[in-house]
Amino acid sequence: MALNKKSVDDINVSGKRVLVRCDFNVPLKNGEITDETRIVAALPTINKLIKDGGKVILCSHLGKVKNGPNEGESLAPVAKRLSEKLGKDVNFVSDYNVTGDVATAAVNAMKEGDVVLLQNTRFRGQEETKNGEQFSKELADLADVYVCDAFGSSHRAHASVAGVTKCISAKGGENAVGYLMQKEIDFLGNAVENPVRPFVAILGGAKVADKLNVINNLLEKCDTLIIGGGMAFTFLKAKGMEVGNSLVDNEKLDYCKEMMDKADKLGKKLLLPVDTTIADHFPDPIDGPIDVEVVDADKIPADKEGLDIGTKTAELYADAVKSAKTVVWNGPMGVFENPILAKGTIAVAKSLAETDATTIIGGGDSAAAVNQLGFADKMSHISTGGGASLEFLEGKELPGVVAADDK
Ligand code: AMP
Repeated sequence: MALNKKSVDDINVSGKRVLVRCDFNVPLKNGEITDETRIVAALPTINKLIKDGGKVILCSHLGKVKNGPNEGESLAPVAKRLSEKLGKDVNFVSDYNVTGDVATAAVNAMKEGDVVLLQNTRFRGQEETKNGEQFSKELADLADVYVCDAFGSSHRAHASVAGVTKCISAKGGENAVGYLMQKEIDFLGNAVENPVRPFVAILGGAKVADKLNVINNLLEKCDTLIIGGGMAFTFLKAKGMEVGNSLVDNEKLDYCKEMMDKADKLGKKLLLPVDTTIADHFPDPIDGPIDVEVVDADKIPADKEGLDIGTKTAELYADAVKSAKTVVWNGPMGVFENPILAKGTIAVAKSLAETDATTIIGGGDSAAAVNQLGFADKMSHISTGGGASLEFLEGKELPGVVAADDK
C-alpha cells in the first residue's frame, strides 16, 4: 500500500527547526534501558534529517506518568543511549515543562545538524487530553517543520502526535511522516490490503473482547484465521464444549458464533485448538513451577484450566504457516511468561522463523516473544507498536498518519 503522505524525502529541512515525534517509550529497569529496539528504529529518520542540515528537535512520551513528572520516567537514559547510537551529542532538555524558556533557549542555540531531545511529553498533562491546544502550540512554536515517526503512538490523537500538526500548518509549515512510519504502514498495509496469498493471520492473547474488530476485519482479508491463547476458549465454549476454568468471556459467546458462521459463509478457514495444555490453576507466580498435562480440546475436565495450546494444535498451526505466503501474528498462544506454558508460542514463532513467507509480527507480547527466542532477524517485519498495529489491523485510520500532509 503506497502511503500518499509527505515523507522526510519530500521536505526540505536545511537550516530549519524540525520537531520529530519519536516513540522512545522503552522499557527501563533501575534506570537502564532493557530493550533499545525503539531507539534503533528511530535512527534512519534522525540521521536523514541531520544529513540534510535540519536542526533536529526530538520529543516522545515514556511510560504512563500516572503521578506527575518524576525522574523514573525522565527521558535522560534515552538521551544517553541515543547519543551513543548517533555518535554525536544529544542536548537533553531535562526541564519538566518540556517546552518553555529552557527548551526555547536550547533550540535557539542549535546549529544545522544538531540534536535536542525534549523531556517526556506526558510530563505535561495536556499531552493526553482533548484540550491540549496550548501544549500543541508551544511545541509547534519551537519548530518550522514537523515529522511524525512515532508509529507506536500514532493511534492516539495526542498533542505531540496530532494537535501539533494543525499549529504547524497554521503558520505555513509542513507535516511529514518518517521512515519508520512508512515502513510500518507499508508492511501492515500490504499484508492486509494486498497480501500474497495464502494469507494466514494468527491471533492470540488473553481476551476476545480486546480483539473483536481485528478478528472481524482479518476474517474478511485473510484465507485462514488461527486463534490461540486465552481467547480460544470462548470460541470453544461457543461451539458447546466444556472448557473448565479456562478464561471465558460469556458475553462474547454470540460474537464468537457469529465469527464462525462468517468464516463458513466466506469460505475461510478458522482454526481453533484441537488440544490444550491444562493445569489445576493459573501459575502463581506466573513463571513458577506448575504441573501440566495435554488433553484434547473437548476433554477439558470441569476443574482444570487451559493455559497453552497442545502439541497437536501446535503442529496444525505450524502446517498452516508452512503453506502461507503472508503471515501476520499478534498475541501469544498461551501463558508464555512461564517456560512450561510457552511451548505453543515457541512452536508458532519457530514456524514463522522457518518459512519463506512474508512474516509480520504485531508488536506487544508476540514481538517480545520473538525477540526473546532469538528469532527476530528471521522475521520480515516486527512492528514497534502493539496498540497501533492492532488498530491498523482493525482497519482503523491512525490519527498520527491522517494528520500528516498529503503528497
Ligand atoms: P494480550 O495482552 O491480550 O495480547 O494477552 C497477553 C496475555 O495473555 C499474556 O500475558 C498471556 O499470559 C495471557 N494468556 C495467553 N493465553 C492464556 C490462557 N490460555 N489463559 C490465560 N491467559 C492467557
